[in-house]
Amino acid sequence: MIIIMEQGATKEQVEAVIKRVKEVGLEVHLSEGKDQTVIGLVGDTEKMIDVPFRGFDGVADTVKVTSTYKLTSRQFHPVDTVVDVDGLKIGGEEAFVTMAGPCSIEGLDQIMECARIAKAGGATVLRGGAFKPRTSPYAFQGLEEEGLKYIREAADKFDMKVITEVMDEANLELVAKYTDILQIGARNMQNFKLLQAVGKTGMPVALKRGISGTIDEWLNAAEYIAASGNQKVIFVERGIRTYETATRNTLDLSAVPVIQKLSHFPIIVDPSHGVGVWDYVTPMAVAGVASGASGMIVEIHPEPNKAWSDGQQSLNEKRYLNMMEQIHVMEKAMKEVKLIREKI
Ligand code: PEP
Ligand code: MN
Repeated sequence: MIIIMEQGATKEQVEAVIKRVKEVGLEVHLSEGKDQTVIGLVGDTEKMIDVPFRGFDGVADTVKVTSTYKLTSRQFHPVDTVVDVDGLKIGGEEAFVTMAGPCSIEGLDQIMECARIAKAGGATVLRGGAFKPRTSPYAFQGLEEEGLKYIREAADKFDMKVITEVMDEANLELVAKYTDILQIGARNMQNFKLLQAVGKTGMPVALKRGISGTIDEWLNAAEYIAASGNQKVIFVERGIRTYETATRNTLDLSAVPVIQKLSHFPIIVDPSHGVGVWDYVTPMAVAGVASGASGMIVEIHPEPNKAWSDGQQSLNEKRYLNMMEQIHVMEKAMKEVKLIREKI
């Protein structure tokens, strides 16, 4: 259940409601917007049935939240959450954020070169996998800690943040030591123990959509992180499996407005895994900006033909810089688009 306070409700009125909620053994999730305060009730809200909150001074309305995800839902928290990655802001009205880098970290020179290219195009976050979820157990599995050291060094040199995947609880502490954002891969979207564990770190978490994950399952996955005390969730739409085989996955850009309607957490797109072929990446990245996403994560490589993984979908320097030029034009256009949209 949520309790919606009247515009201009006083601090005392809000506190009186919170006090009563706690008396009946429930927790409070407070969302204070510019115009409105919403008090979310966390716990077994069946207990609340007889408490006449509607009659409390300053209360405008009470609404039953029917979804199983609560902390993640926009009903509970009407204001956009802006995830703060050590000063870099993702979500809400903040600028579009680009995360770029190779699929896999292959060595210090390679990740340094990727960082240089990524930065030159305007990316502020360096991506790269050190623990790789590969379809075949015989494929390259990642440089592990050595790779983590390299990506940290490269990001620090170019004043960038790091995003890298954590595949299991056993390596969480190690990965957390080197990264700024923990990436949960598509194959782990419903690894609930891992979600709870990353939730407990309190670090920003980029939660990729499962290969066949529905929006509802994805929102519930985010709830595992939020319910573990972590409000720094970033959704990543990376394409889903459909009957279509012309592309590696089907990038579901409609997930962007849907997630934005249902949740307050930001959503970014991954055009690389979304399509799986380099020459489709740029149009879908530009479309990602137009969809209203808060950012993107894209794969680049100095020599895609020699990449140890996902070379076929990686952009070389020239193509990446060209894409970023297009992205910047679309970002500017989106500012005007938003102004028009706000008129309704
Ligand atoms: C990746 O980002 O390299 C990756 C493996 O992504 P996903 O989990 O979306 O397949
Ligand atoms: Mn990849």
